[in-house]
Amino acid sequence: MELQKPVVGRFAPSPSGRMHLGNAFSALLAWLSARSTGGQMVLRLEDLDPARCRRAYCAQVEEDFRWLGLDWDIGGSQGGESYYQSTRSALYAEYLNRLAEKNLLYPCFCSRNELHAASAPHRSDGVLLYAGTCRNLTEEQRAEKAKLRPPAIRVRVPEETISFVDGLQGAFSQNLAADCGDFILRRSDGVFAYQLAVVVDDGLMGVNQVVRGEDLLDSTPRQIWLQRQLGFPQPEYYHVPLLYGADGHRLSKRQRDLDLGAIRAAGARPEQVIGRLACWAGLIDRPEPIAASELVPTFSWKKVQKTPIVVE
Ligand code: GLU
Repeated sequence: MELQKPVVGRFAPSPSGRMHLGNAFSALLAWLSARSTGGQMVLRLEDLDPARCRRAYCAQVEEDFRWLGLDWDIGGSQGGESYYQSTRSALYAEYLNRLAEKNLLYPCFCSRNELHAASAPHRSDGVLLYAGTCRNLTEEQRAEKAKLRPPAIRVRVPEETISFVDGLQGAFSQNLAADCGDFILRRSDGVFAYQLAVVVDDGLMGVNQVVRGEDLLDSTPRQIWLQRQLGFPQPEYYHVPLLYGADGHRLSKRQRDLDLGAIRAAGARPEQVIGRLACWAGLIDRPEPIAASELVPTFSWKKVQKTPIVVE
C-alpha cells in the first residue's frame, strides 16, 4: 500500500497591489485544503515583474493573510530572500539551460506589434497562438537580428495532448501545439516567465497541491509538460471559481472598493470577510461571521462551488 504524502500547499501571491477578495478566496481554499488534512503551507512571493511588484506590497500581503487568520509554515519574509521569485533568477537560468540542452528552446525576436500583426492561427476563444516566425531561423539570421534587439526565449512545444484531472473542475486536456503554441520562458528584458518560475519553484519547494484561480486552468497543461521535461513530480490541482462584480467584470486589483485595504478601512472584521468568502465557496449556508480556523474540521472539496461567483 502506498502511503499518502502529507499535503504541501502554497500561497503564491503576486505583490502588485493590495489583495482583493478573489485572491483571498483562493487563499482561503488553499489553506483549508492543506490544513484540513494536517498539511503544510508555503508562502512564495511571485514578484518577478519589477515594473509591477513592490516589497511594500509583499509586507502588506503577509499582514492581510495574518489578519484573515491564514498562516504558513515556510517562506514569506521569515523564510528569507529565497521565497521571493525576484531573487531566484540563477535557479531559473539553470533549469532553462536544461531545456536548452534538450534542444527545446529558440530565441524569438518578434516585437509586440509583430506578434499582433502576424497571421497567427487562433483558438476558438480568440487566444493568439505564436505563428512560429522565429522557430526555424538560421544561425546567420539570428546573429543579424540580435544586432537590433535582444531576444526573448521560447520553448518549442510538440503535438502532444496533455490531460489531467482537476480536483474541482474534473478532466481537462489541451493539445500543446494547437491550443498553446510555442511559449515564452524568458522575456527579452531578461525577466523569467511565470510558466517556468512556477514549475521550478513548486518542484524545488516540494509543493504537491496547487489551489488557485480558474484563470490558470489554461496554463496547467504547459506547466505539467514542463514538469515532465525537468523531472519534477506533478502536483494535485484544484482550480477555484473566480469572483465577478455585479457588472460582470472579474474582480481585479484595479477595483479598489473590493480590496482588503478598503474593506478593512471600512471597519470589517476578519470573521465577517471569511464568512462571506466561505458562503460564496459553498462551505456555509449564510454569510455569518466565522474564523478561518473554525472551517477546518468540516472542510471538504465536495462542498465547494465550481462555477463563477457573482459578488453583490
Ligand atoms: N502569482 C499568481 C497570481 O497571483 C498565482 C500563480 C499560481 O498560483 O500558480 O495570480
